[in-house]
Amino acid sequence: MHEMGIVNSVLDAFRAEARRFPGGHICKVGLRIGELAGVATDSMSFCFEALVRGTELEPLELEIEYCPRRHRCSICGSLFPAAMDGAACPDCGAAGSQFAGGDELEIAYLEVEDGASTART
Ligand SMILES: [Zn+2]
Repeated sequence: MHEMGIVNSVLDAFRAEARRFPGGHICKVGLRIGELAGVATDSMSFCFEALVRGTELEPLELEIEYCPRRHRCSICGSLFPAAMDGAACPDCGAAGSQFAGGDELEIAYLEVEDGASTART
């Protein structure tokens, strides 16, 4: 299960981020995962729970933002979900769209609890 290694590196990046909030507890992390990232989101959740359990990071909630593969039309600039290379644009019908996203694997946001308020970064 290679998700375990991915979650480990995500948690490393997360700990580095957490140092920016001394005195606050990060209660929630949002992860952006693209369709093409080669990651099973349910395995990610499972590994995340397993790796956070019993650590100083607890309690920490994970929210996964799933990003489908997207293309940008080279004619009208429209952004749309596409399953394959060169998919036709749904707006103007032009073929030959360019790959424009769907391989994300990054921290989207952190929610910090400082006792009184919750901040989104
Ligand atoms: Zn178009």
